[in-house]
Amino acid sequence: MFARTRKHRLILHIDFNSYFATVEQQANPRLRGKPVGVIGGPARNALACEVGGDRVKRTVLGAASVEAKRFGVKTGMQVWEARKLCPKIILVPGDSDKYLETTKRFLNILKDYSPYLEAFSIDECFLEILRLPSVAQDDNFTQAIEIALVIKRRIKQEIGEVVTCSIGISYNKLMAKLAGSLQKPDGLVVIPNQEEAINVLDSIELDEICGIGPRIKKRLNNLGIFSFSALRQVPLESLLASFKSYGQVLYNMARGIDCSKVVPFYEKEEIKSVGHRHTIDHDTDDLVEIKQILLKLTELIARRLRGKKLAGKTVHCWYRLALNPRCQYVSTSEVGLRCGLEGEFVGQGMQTTILYTNDGLDIFQAAWRIFHSLWNHEKIRMIGVSISNLKPTLPQNLSLLPETKKEETIIKSIDAINNKYGEFTLQRGILLTS
Ligand SMILES: [Mg+2]
Repeated sequence: MFARTRKHRLILHIDFNSYFATVEQQANPRLRGKPVGVIGGPARNALACEVGGDRVKRTVLGAASVEAKRFGVKTGMQVWEARKLCPKIILVPGDSDKYLETTKRFLNILKDYSPYLEAFSIDECFLEILRLPSVAQDDNFTQAIEIALVIKRRIKQEIGEVVTCSIGISYNKLMAKLAGSLQKPDGLVVIPNQEEAINVLDSIELDEICGIGPRIKKRLNNLGIFSFSALRQVPLESLLASFKSYGQVLYNMARGIDCSKVVPFYEKEEIKSVGHRHTIDHDTDDLVEIKQILLKLTELIARRLRGKKLAGKTVHCWYRLALNPRCQYVSTSEVGLRCGLEGEFVGQGMQTTILYTNDGLDIFQAAWRIFHSLWNHEKIRMIGVSISNLKPTLPQNLSLLPETKKEETIIKSIDAINNKYGEFTLQRGILLTS
């Protein structure tokens, strides 16, 4: 019998190297072996087409090819900086459909080796290999290495020579991801046990592990902690006092411990729409009050979309009038309608299509337009908003303009505050799953 035991796990982390750039090089042989920078996000192709224009100079690189990286060019760098380091850099507009299509293809290859496949980002995933409990642990790692080599070969054959991946193999997700980051490009590294994990941890910087960003690193440094070996000296209680529940994560991290599960896509709910509604405890026709509620609802929806790395484009807004014992709530897709049946509420709803977004203000504006086009100044009792037609967002570094960056920073801090202080006192609305 195969078992997916908690005690001895076997996890592969597969991470594609310079993903967007190599996918472009794969698609266009003339780009191969040359320094390439990918610019422009999904909604910004128009901008990306202005290569050479003034605006492009202020654009940020979404990805750089291995050849460009040799000149010191990095993802997230401004185009003028990249050009200074590497004047021959070829700028290519990003094409999210192409990357998603390639991702779909490599996930299809990987699922042949285990049903426990978790897509972590557009170019990264975890694969938990089922192991034979009767086989010695060393043999299991030999088997995992064989699988990794087959995966690499199949990617070359079925996706292309240019697209390469680094594979890390270990006994948990955290260490597999760390192993995968140690050798790039086209790497294959095994961290077989906790002893080896601690050796590796003691040879890297704090922020080289997934889960310690610049801010956590700075806070650790402020406490006099500059290495994992120093982190291991700190008692759990002190870490909990300084970092709350994240203290436990840091405590485990320094010891190579991570219990998180590989969550396969079919165990993750597929979200069709995200929505909230709010029932007011009185009847109201106060436009300021309604606007406030709608702003909160749409901000909440946007935050949940961002938390799930999704953007949507169909906004649906509906409301219910003050209790009227003879009517019924009806929502329609194209036009607002109302009709009545006994003992129910009356209400209206309508949907509209906007550009893909996960910004609360965009969603609010669409919902507010709908509300205004339907509302007849009657008193209302409930209002709701939802967004559907969802798609995954690309990594942040692919959205480009400095202004956009600033906006994203602001959005991120709002999310952080909301996450900390809890949700508004709103009734949780529908979350439709397939
Ligand atoms: Mg990658």
